[in-house]
Amino acid sequence: MDASVANDIGEDALSGILSIDLQALQANYRWLAGRAAPAVCGAVVKANAYGLGADRVAPALAAAGCRHFFVAHLLEAKNLKRHLPRDAKIFVLNGLMPGGEPYAALHGIIPVINSMTQLSNWSAAAERHGARLPAVLQFDTGMSRLGLGPEDAAALLEDRKLLRNIDVQFIMSHLASADESLNQQNAAQLAAMQALAARFPDTKLCFANSGGVLLGSDFHGDMVRPGIAVYGGAASDGAANPMKPVVQLSVRVIQTHTVPAGTLIGYGGSHRAATEMRLATLAAGYADGLPRSLSDRGAAFAMGKRLPIIGRVSMDSMTIDISSLPEGALGLGSLVELIGPDQALEEIAVDAGTISYEILTGLGQRYHRQYI
Ligand SMILES: *Cc1c(COP(=O)(O)O)cnc(C)c1O
Repeated sequence: MDASVANDIGEDALSGILSIDLQALQANYRWLAGRAAPAVCGAVVKANAYGLGADRVAPALAAAGCRHFFVAHLLEAKNLKRHLPRDAKIFVLNGLMPGGEPYAALHGIIPVINSMTQLSNWSAAAERHGARLPAVLQFDTGMSRLGLGPEDAAALLEDRKLLRNIDVQFIMSHLASADESLNQQNAAQLAAMQALAARFPDTKLCFANSGGVLLGSDFHGDMVRPGIAVYGGAASDGAANPMKPVVQLSVRVIQTHTVPAGTLIGYGGSHRAATEMRLATLAAGYADGLPRSLSDRGAAFAMGKRLPIIGRVSMDSMTIDISSLPEGALGLGSLVELIGPDQALEEIAVDAGTISYEILTGLGQRYHRQYI
């Protein structure tokens, strides 16, 4: 929701407030860049900057010194371009679908090449364009998701003509288990990446996501590309999360009521009140990105008290138990916290049976978004 809507209606009247701290975001970027130095620090702003608004996040990162931006789709690159300084580079992680090459070539968008088919399509586009075109070559070092395989690497080394139209900016790979500091897959992928780097000795290397930055300098190569840590998320199972929180979410109470023992609460009557309870109904539900899997599991917070979610989460609302608060403490229009000082992003994600990434990218469009 844009600011003008908020001005017309009045912030007090808006049902949910999502506040996004761009200064914390910039501090996180600078911290990661410091960790990664002398490697360059890019930033992943795919999926609308993990749901936080690429139009606001990308310029803030550019102001903090970032010049390398990663998205997943060509359409995201198109939308991002107008928010970035002219010297910024945009990389498309999924590479291009057939037919996307002319647009990318014309606008200087840099695809990640994940297969020999993407390579030959980009190479043909370069022929038509009449100049070599920039690209990143992604190799699969063990995730089996995207990237060129060992036989492709061998083919590229054997027949250098395959790359004659391509200005290879980086070779890259992606870590499958970087958030698990002790997972042996990290060392295995690092060894595979180092073996590749030895075979492409004059080419720069881009390897680490957020977790990879924290794994240490072995993983940094020439450029790192963190996402979740920039947005304040925990990137490692290691020590306490060093990042500053970026997101706070508060939603308003619509009504409160006291129900006797035995009352059925919410769709399906899935919760039966064991005792008399005081309840508050909140003005946000699964359509706002608070997953239905939080039914009878998660909590909101007010006045430092944990207020459990009771019964099923509905599309536009959910019910919490406020029996632990003094009577009258909450009423129509009161705000309760879903993400903030009392409940980290990771905590609500765990209660929902998911990860911080999915909560962030699912944050709804009905909140008043407040950029600090
Ligand atoms: C999403 C993504 C990243 C960013 O990962 P984080 O864990 O959010 O830091 C980096 N590289 C690739 C290939 C990705 O898909």
